[in-house]
Amino acid sequence: MRNVKGIVLKPGKDKAVRNRHHWIFSGAVASLPSDLADGGIAPVLSDAGELLGHAYINRNCSILGRMLSFGPGDPFAALDMSIMKAIALRRDLFGDGEKTNAYRIINAEGDGIPGLVVDRYDSVLVLQVTTLGMEKLKDLVLGTLVRELAPETIYEKSDMPSRREEGLGNREGFLHGEERGLVLVREEGLEFLVDVVRSQKTGLYLDQREMRKLVGGLARGRSVLNCFAYTGGFSVHALRGGAVRVDSVDSSAGALETAKRNFFQNGLPVEGNGFIEADVFDFLRGPIASYDLIILDPPAFAKKKGDVRQACRGYKDINRIAIQKAPPGALLLTFSCSHFVDEGLFRQVVFQAAAEASRGVRILGRHIQAPDHPVNVFHPETEYLKGFLLYID
Ligand code: SAH
Repeated sequence: MRNVKGIVLKPGKDKAVRNRHHWIFSGAVASLPSDLADGGIAPVLSDAGELLGHAYINRNCSILGRMLSFGPGDPFAALDMSIMKAIALRRDLFGDGEKTNAYRIINAEGDGIPGLVVDRYDSVLVLQVTTLGMEKLKDLVLGTLVRELAPETIYEKSDMPSRREEGLGNREGFLHGEERGLVLVREEGLEFLVDVVRSQKTGLYLDQREMRKLVGGLARGRSVLNCFAYTGGFSVHALRGGAVRVDSVDSSAGALETAKRNFFQNGLPVEGNGFIEADVFDFLRGPIASYDLIILDPPAFAKKKGDVRQACRGYKDINRIAIQKAPPGALLLTFSCSHFVDEGLFRQVVFQAAAEASRGVRILGRHIQAPDHPVNVFHPETEYLKGFLLYID
């Protein structure tokens, strides 16, 4: 084995890879083949020369290598197999798509495919590539997606800031098929308009699908405040579920316009419901109506480890004010999608918010991201969304 050229790990630094974690940090690497270009694939070897799998590399990144396969097999065949398994899981989850035709097909390390996200919106696939290694594998990936899913259109929306460390600029455009306007998708008998080109993320926050359904079931007779409403997913579900009023707050005027169109699309009245362009922090501090179901679904306040303290202050503030202003018996559905704020820490934030508001708070439910965003037990970074359904005494 010694004569195999590869990414050789330092003694004792092979544990993560043996435990099927996908990342190889630069500090774990003893040597690299000098002729291996950034973005290229090579065998990963222990100090003793044992073949642990294959990874692609980028010397410019602190995560120097990302495992494409574990064990002795061919990495290209493994990638193809990982894509097929990802597709098979979604077929299990969604059948032929009668409940919804909008879901994540490939969830990066959650599906064993570092650097790649693929979402389906009806016959349109939206693809996001975050690494140089995956950029070099894109044609292979596209071939498999077209062969297996026969999409009408594939749109690339690789606009994540993390691409900069990889030496990649933003890349957006149609990779396959014709340019499409708005795509209409179904979810639980409701319809949503998706603008894959001009939207946030790939179009919708698909990871909250189960929570939208939950809200639909909780909303009857309640007046609902949907904070960080984006294009009104929670709002539409709440109103169809029998809410007496739904106010949607977001800082993006464009998102709120689409929210109104989504109301219209589902035959729900725009009049009598609020679409409020505001900073949620300011809005909550102002004089607000009494709501008996409040949703807090902010963007990730902690984008890196160093942000955690500041992020927790932000989470605590909005939760404290929401709890203070909620009437007894109100429900608060509160989320954090920062990976760096784990469930235990988020629970402490809720504790602190409740203590400062001097209100009794009970947890009725604990939630994670929808199952088309699977959490890889070997790669805990794939768990990011956590939420609590709280009862405010
Ligand atoms: N709940 C939504 C997704 C929310 S994404 C859904 O299920 O579809 C986060 C949203 O928060 C984005 O629409 C963004 O425009 C908005 N946003 C970010 N910071 C904000 C702030 N300080 N005040 C109000 N809205 C904000």
